[in-house]
Amino acid sequence: MLSLATSWHNRIIAIDDPKHCQFCSEPMTHYQAVAEEKPQLFPICGCKGARKAFEARMVLKERDLLAQKREQDTAYRIANCGVGKRYLDAQPQGHFKDYVMLLTLMLEQGTGIFVQGKKGTGKTYAASSVVLVAVREQYTAELISSAQLFELLKSSFGSRDMTDSILARYQKLDLLVIDDLGKEHVTDWSISQLFALIDWRYSNRRSTIVTTQYTGAQLVEIWRRNGDINNGVAMLSRLNQCCDRVDMGGIDKRLGGEEICEKNESLSLSLA
Ligand SMILES: [Zn+2]
Repeated sequence: MLSLATSWHNRIIAIDDPKHCQFCSEPMTHYQAVAEEKPQLFPICGCKGARKAFEARMVLKERDLLAQKREQDTAYRIANCGVGKRYLDAQPQGHFKDYVMLLTLMLEQGTGIFVQGKKGTGKTYAASSVVLVAVREQYTAELISSAQLFELLKSSFGSRDMTDSILARYQKLDLLVIDDLGKEHVTDWSISQLFALIDWRYSNRRSTIVTTQYTGAQLVEIWRRNGDINNGVAMLSRLNQCCDRVDMGGIDKRLGGEEICEKNESLSLSLA
């Protein structure tokens, strides 16, 4: 009896149908896997040639199963990465082709991208395209709208455990995209939690992509309406330290976008 490197070991029965082995010409027995949907007869002989051929088939079968499992796993992770149905076909364009080409380096260094542009300039599409590539390359990556993230954080107000578990979930991702920053309803508390998240990711070299239709100065102005701006300013400062700035167009630079989120040359990936 051969030693089968699979769990089929206990699910095969012998069929009394002796044929001659193509390797050693001895009569041999056919076996049938009982649990298979379409039972297949497979001959087994204990000789070296037959054993090698059988093992090669098992290896191929295992490889097929693994590939199939990986495909299913990727499909599941894409369905759960926060990228909307509209953007599931997003392909990297322009600068984002370069970021995707250097994705491993970007994720190892923990650099990110601060994507600015007015409404309709393709910020979400671009960010989604990077998330999709990261997921396909087996990284953990997720896109969440800023409004959703703030709602989630606010819903945990009063329960430190719940807040911590939300933060932990978004801290550990290889790539986090916060989409449409500035569209959220913030409170002092929720923005301090977002700062904690960004600060943790910055300190632990985790890549973050932020998209916004506002300049840094406009963001600060928006947050000012809700009170204290220190956390917001500190968060922009962290992003400024670790992110390239990509201008998708339509941002009024006179409003301070350049000073607050200027491209950081020392950390920037080659985009020549
Ligand atoms: Zn044989």
